[in-house]
Amino acid sequence: MSAIDTDHFREQLLDERKRVVAALQNLHDDHPGSLTDESGDETAFDNHILDTATETYDRELDYTLEENSEHVLADIDAALKRIEDGTYGVCTDKGEQIPLERLEARPWATLCIDCQRERERR
Ligand SMILES: [Zn+2]
Repeated sequence: MSAIDTDHFREQLLDERKRVVAALQNLHDDHPGSLTDESGDETAFDNHILDTATETYDRELDYTLEENSEHVLADIDAALKRIEDGTYGVCTDKGEQIPLERLEARPWATLCIDCQRERERR
């Protein structure tokens, strides 16, 4: 059995939930419209976008958020439920323990990195 500090993660999840809800409201209130290509240098748009600090960061993050926020929200709610069920931190695919570093970075993770990558490949 693991000794995951579920109180700690519950707090993180509730915090993140507030942020996601606020972000969604913000996006829906003030939709940025179509993304115009000003820089002409967007070939490197990929999963590393969150790691790059460019002037287009905020705008692209908005789009990433809009696409992902509702999924994240569902994932957060599911994670909160799993904390109650006592199954939090277990990979829902193969049932192995999700590494704590991953939960710290992404408290709503339902899959270990390997299973996540497999799923994203589909
Ligand atoms: Zn797994």
